[in-house]
Amino acid sequence: MKLNAYEQAVKQYVCSRCIDFGEDGACHSSDPEGCAVFRFLPELIDIAAKIQDQRISHYLHCVRQEVCAYCRNQHPGEKCSVRDSLDCALDRYLPMILDALEHVPAQAQ
Ligand code: SF4
Ligand code: SF4
Repeated sequence: MKLNAYEQAVKQYVCSRCIDFGEDGACHSSDPEGCAVFRFLPELIDIAAKIQDQRISHYLHCVRQEVCAYCRNQHPGEKCSVRDSLDCALDRYLPMILDALEHVPAQAQ
């Protein structure tokens, strides 16, 4: 797997539309651990590859199990104040992120 191709896809399709992307061309994420999209990119690639479903709820369930469970922002009881304050880009843009990852050309993977 060429991680770089996926990173480029996220930068191109997600970062460019993200409210945390500054006019200076830098990320100004409010996530105290750094943007979860990049912290958990390999896990998100796996989720995008293994689930082929129209329902976002299926992907969300997987993200809670395979990403949030290992994120230092999550508190007991699957609570996340970063998510609640809309500061988690992964949570805000999940459909767009999956779309970007699923459309990385096979030859670039
Ligand atoms: S918060 Fe994440 S998705 Fe948004 S600009 Fe920063 S790195 Fe990109
Ligand atoms: S929703 Fe919270 S626990 Fe899940 S990835 Fe985002 S910051 Fe981490």
